[in-house]
Amino acid sequence: MKRRQFIQAAGAGVVLASTVGCATVSGSAKPQVVVVGGGYGGATAAKYIRMWSGGAVDVTLIEPNPKFISCPLSNLVLGGSRMLADLTMGYDDLTRKHGIRLLQDAVKFIDASQRTVLLASGATLKYDRLIVSPGVDFIWDQLPGMQREGAQDSVLHAWKAGPQTLALRAQLQAMPDGGVFAMTIPPAPYRCPPGPYERASQIAFYFSQAKPRSKVLILDANEDVVSKGPLFKRIWKERYKDIIEYRPGFNTADVDARTRTAMSEIGDQVKADVLNVIPPQRAGAIAVQSGLANANGRWCAVDFLTFESTAVKNIHVLGDAIMTAPLMPKSAHMANQHAKVCAAAVVDLLAGRTPEARPMLTNTCYSFVCDKDVIHVASVHAYDADKKTLLVVPGSGGVSAGPSALEGEYAMNWARNIWADTLS
Ligand SMILES: Cc1cc2nc3c(=O)[nH]c(=O)nc-3n(C[C@H](O)[C@H](O)[C@H](O)COP(=O)(O)OP(=O)(O)OC[C@H]3O[C@@H](n4cnc5c(N)ncnc54)[C@H](O)[C@@H]3O)c2cc1C
Repeated sequence: MKRRQFIQAAGAGVVLASTVGCATVSGSAKPQVVVVGGGYGGATAAKYIRMWSGGAVDVTLIEPNPKFISCPLSNLVLGGSRMLADLTMGYDDLTRKHGIRLLQDAVKFIDASQRTVLLASGATLKYDRLIVSPGVDFIWDQLPGMQREGAQDSVLHAWKAGPQTLALRAQLQAMPDGGVFAMTIPPAPYRCPPGPYERASQIAFYFSQAKPRSKVLILDANEDVVSKGPLFKRIWKERYKDIIEYRPGFNTADVDARTRTAMSEIGDQVKADVLNVIPPQRAGAIAVQSGLANANGRWCAVDFLTFESTAVKNIHVLGDAIMTAPLMPKSAHMANQHAKVCAAAVVDLLAGRTPEARPMLTNTCYSFVCDKDVIHVASVHAYDADKKTLLVVPGSGGVSAGPSALEGEYAMNWARNIWADTLS
């Protein structure tokens, strides 16, 4: 049975348990999939495995946070046009509608030889296939000053939406008019290529409304704006000329949190009233500890047909944690697409079938440049069997001609769609 027929059969309510391999390590009647991380990659994979297996695969999702908080749109909280509550959602539908077993816990250790995971609570779970989507963690030892006591409480990253987003907003509100907000951007690759530039635009928008004498200083380790460069730079010139200053090639090597000073590798120092440090990044800690980060010790290389790790069998890695294919951004949209390719492959593999040989993935990244106007970049990524990677389909990419409120509506629809696709 091909996957399409399988999915149609599942939709028609046919009982499929017999089509899925039943020789499970857990001894349970159904194959067991454990998913680590209930973000954009993990929650989507959990839901689609349940749907596409017609309930024939048991799925356990492990996530420490009680609620899902979206990083996409979190820069608008800093700009003041959205509340964090607007971006916060429950996991209830995943359990109620899709029968996913959700554990509010964290995975401490993966034993690939036994196919078990150890949870912080002390429980051990067995798996037939493990899906790891832990997002990113920060490489703090590249910024020694940020490891001093209290440094990370005063100089914030706000690169994982949640309490830090609110705390950075409070710092911006408390800053006097005429103050300087400086943000540091690490060398690519990092989570969400256009995200820092959207953030700079949002804070400049806030200053233009509330603190017009204030400045936004962008200290970018990269030699140029990494994503939508010509558009961002044009918009900054047209809308925020007296507010935003862009300094490329400022590779932050250390930070003095007490004086809110960023230091570059060549010794330049910049002191700010509010300093926002986006640190260098790598795959989430659990992936690194488990030997999955086999690309420079930072990212997890995968087989793009299944998203199975190239380092450890029966473990699949999704989202920001992977070593991406050429020109593939670390985005929520891509994590969602990884999750679907992986979910289909895992259902096939558990049923003893060969996964789809020609996956296609799409991506659109929207960026708000004020409270309403938006720009985007889009791309299509197709599997290349010779190169064994996903390559951008020539001519498939596109960027906005300029910012518009109509794109702002599309961006909000994109967000509602991906939230529903991930969680409902
Ligand atoms: C400011 C900002 C704006 C952004 N805007 C956009 C945008 O407009 N469009 C877009 O497409 N992308 C955007 N992104 C990027 C997007 O947020 C990420 O690419 C996406 O979240 C990646 O999904 P993920 O599943 O890899 O990680 P996440 O969504 O971060 O999920 C990882 C989950 O794993 C959990 N976890 C970690 N370790 C463990 C463990 N040991 N045990 C159990 N659970 C664990 C975490 O708690 C977390 O919930 C933005 C990011 C930022 C920071």
